[in-house]
Amino acid sequence: MPRTAQASLIWNRDAETMPRQDLERLQLERLRATADLVFHKVPFYRQSFDAAGIRPEDIRSLGDLARLPLTTKKDLRDNYPFGLLTVPLDAIVRLHASSGTTGKPTVGPYTARDLATWGEVMARVYASAGVTSRDIVHNAYGYGLFTGGLGFHLGAEQVGAAVVPASGGLSKRQVMLMEDFGATVLTCTPSYSLVLAETALELGVDVRSRLRLRAGIFGAEPWTEAMRQEIEAKLHLEAFDTFGLTEMIGPGVASECPRHDGLHIAEDHFLPEVIDPDSGAPVPDGEVGELVFTTITREGQPLIRYRTRDRIRLTREPCACGRTLARMSKVLGRTDDMLIIRGVNVYPFNIESVVLAVEGLEPHYLILIDRPKDQLDEIEVWVEASVELWNSGEYWIRETEKKLHKSLADALGLSPRVKVAEPHSIQRSEGKARRIIDKRELGS
Ligand code: ADP
Ligand code: ZN
Repeated sequence: MPRTAQASLIWNRDAETMPRQDLERLQLERLRATADLVFHKVPFYRQSFDAAGIRPEDIRSLGDLARLPLTTKKDLRDNYPFGLLTVPLDAIVRLHASSGTTGKPTVGPYTARDLATWGEVMARVYASAGVTSRDIVHNAYGYGLFTGGLGFHLGAEQVGAAVVPASGGLSKRQVMLMEDFGATVLTCTPSYSLVLAETALELGVDVRSRLRLRAGIFGAEPWTEAMRQEIEAKLHLEAFDTFGLTEMIGPGVASECPRHDGLHIAEDHFLPEVIDPDSGAPVPDGEVGELVFTTITREGQPLIRYRTRDRIRLTREPCACGRTLARMSKVLGRTDDMLIIRGVNVYPFNIESVVLAVEGLEPHYLILIDRPKDQLDEIEVWVEASVELWNSGEYWIRETEKKLHKSLADALGLSPRVKVAEPHSIQRSEGKARRIIDKRELGS
């Protein structure tokens, strides 16, 4: 059994356990103020409100939210870098940006009050994982423009923990520091946590006896329940999923409580909706759709109905932890990462679950898609063998390949090529993992 986190705490009891009726009243009030702010300060929003035929004063209930225009990544790009600000630049004290893989990045501008809000929501994330002033937080999210590093840093200071600003990379030194400083909490992407586990193994540092990690707060990329089990076993800690995006504030938007049954959304700051990504129609609680957020306390760059492109389920059922805040499921994929292979919809998420259920394989995998000239699309899945499997010889490797092939074919409804690869042959990531290589996009 891995170690478990210290008893979970509720950082802001008033906000996090507020009766839903009161919460909804607060949300409506803040929504109206935000709509009013952007309508009067941001030409883009004045135009899009006008086009939708709505004015801020028309918002009388939370149901009216659906009448407001949606905002997309393209709108942010079109208004790059400062077109959506509601304040003059001298009120901005921090600028982050998310690495758009294509084109211009998305800008995250913060006023002093926005930074305070960020500290508040991040403190909730830590408290929920039982982190207090007695903890040493080893923060291996990347520091820099990416919001992960500084966001987790801010929250750790807020709860009074000692934070080690390790950032990503130099993994051997990170393991040494975790051991020497006695880190009790690890924060990084789930994929990087596995790199650290592997590095510890290489260095002969036994995570059970020489590290003191109790909790890990992992996010910024999708990961499955199967991956959680791998990480908990390999690092000997309790793993919490945490979610955020630059457009809202960075990390701190939603995070797990010790029930690990969904991520509580900081709904008093970020108003969630779930819509059908094609029609835009609302999707009832419990059904999968695209997550849409409206910031209701942001000053620098408030966003109305921002389409995250993340596919989730939402529930407003009360949680046994006492929080009344709605919970989102783990991210089930993106509306834009669905692979269509020979007409079959394939989600990388499903592939991960299958891969990790096959014995002898490690949680390092790669999905390659190709379209050979004038032929059908081909999908190939490479997964690393465990050292034991690799050393047990060709026969067992081929048997495992057959098993992997069958499980993937059953789950996906198409027949992928599979390869059980040598240990350590698949490239590791210090931040968000890149597990899909789609050669079709390269036009080859
Ligand atoms: P950050 O990496 O700080 O969370 P970005 O703006 O770079 O912010 O990326 C945001 C996106 O990252 C989200 O829209 C989502 O797709 C993904 N993401 C963040 N946290 C998680 C998580 N816990 N699970 C799955 N995906 C996540
Ligand atoms: Zn809960």
